[in-house]
Amino acid sequence: MIEFRNVSKIYPGNQVAAENINIKIEDGQFVCFIGTSGSGKTTCMRMINRMNEPTSGEILIDGKNIMEYDPVALRREIGYVIQQIGLMPHMTIYENIVMVPRLLKWNEDKLRPLAENLIEKVDLPISYLDKYPSELSGGQQQRIGVIRALAADQNIILMDEPFGALDPITRDSLQQLVKKLQRELGKTFIFVTHDMNEALTLADKIVIMDKGNIIQQDTPENILKYPATDYVKELLGEEKLNEAKTSYNTVETIMIKNPISISEDKTAYEAISLMREKRVDTLFITDDDNYLKGVVGIFDLGKVGRRNPTMKEIMTKSFAISNDTKIIEAIHQFYVLKFKNLPVVNEKNQLVGLVTRASIVDTIYTNLWSEDDESDDEPLVDEDDNFQELIHEAQGDNND
Ligand code: ADP
Ligand code: MG
Repeated sequence: MIEFRNVSKIYPGNQVAAENINIKIEDGQFVCFIGTSGSGKTTCMRMINRMNEPTSGEILIDGKNIMEYDPVALRREIGYVIQQIGLMPHMTIYENIVMVPRLLKWNEDKLRPLAENLIEKVDLPISYLDKYPSELSGGQQQRIGVIRALAADQNIILMDEPFGALDPITRDSLQQLVKKLQRELGKTFIFVTHDMNEALTLADKIVIMDKGNIIQQDTPENILKYPATDYVKELLGEEKLNEAKTSYNTVETIMIKNPISISEDKTAYEAISLMREKRVDTLFITDDDNYLKGVVGIFDLGKVGRRNPTMKEIMTKSFAISNDTKIIEAIHQFYVLKFKNLPVVNEKNQLVGLVTRASIVDTIYTNLWSEDDESDDEPLVDEDDNFQELIHEAQGDNND
């Protein structure tokens, strides 16, 4: 754990860069510092590895004051990635990746397997290790930059606006990559940004700074729901605030209650007539206590022939989401995992509802593209073909 206790930093000339900062950062947490330029983000981050030393207060790592650590040893334990430092052009990809472990005098035998392991994590072929940066695309080079930051296996990684100068699409894919690797490797990340979307995407905890002070520190969800001041609202922007109003509600608020279901011992013919009567293409199979057992779709029933099997014989297992799932997480399921509809179950796995693509898309329409938006701004998710596809499909569904 990293802990700031009443930390202040005053530069010569009475320049207050950080004032009475108190933060607790748990192991494996992803913390983003955000604020306007000059608000003290970099100063706070650099105090963690003693590149800047506090004027007063103390910083503890695992309960020990960092002033008691040897500064060189401390910096070895903490990875640091400065703004937009590219790869070394005259070194191979391999040499770039193992640069810090080499500086730390790791055994050479360990380095090749390390580099191979890391390059596989970013889906690039091992043969690329022997190429030079100029032989890789810009996006590939950036991915190498990310794994280089992780190569020395330090438990704490500091990143100061690493993606500040990148185009939005590259930035987006690197954010996903960083988040994925952070989760996989369980490292603590401290990440400085001035982009709220970036902070909302990445952070477990966001620390909002203004003029050397912490204005608010909380989860992205709570910051969106309860922005502490106008400054925070401004950083979030109106669009995000609108979005937050509903997308952090649970799926219970938009689900169809008591979806059409049928019991395990009913036959295919009975199922077909129930579908016809209710005009649905999917039936959920439940037992007497309403536990979700499986699902049968209209196409499965089309194939049964004369034998007229029971639901138990032909149903497949159904993926389900729990009733406390946030809408924003459900959006992810629909969009990434391409579900057409999802049953909702309670904590006992009893069927309580159904969320359809159409209801999700409705939520997106009303919140991301607010109705009174008369500007010709591009929609937030326009870059994404999958998403467009999803929406067209849902519109099609509605027009039936
Ligand atoms: P941020 O990273 O949020 O842009 P910084 O931490 O770099 O902010 O800076 C916070 C404040 O401290 C700013 O007003 C900046 O001018 C001042 N500052 C930063 N570094 C120094 C320094 N070495 N000497 C004097 N003032 C500094
Ligand atoms: Mg800075």
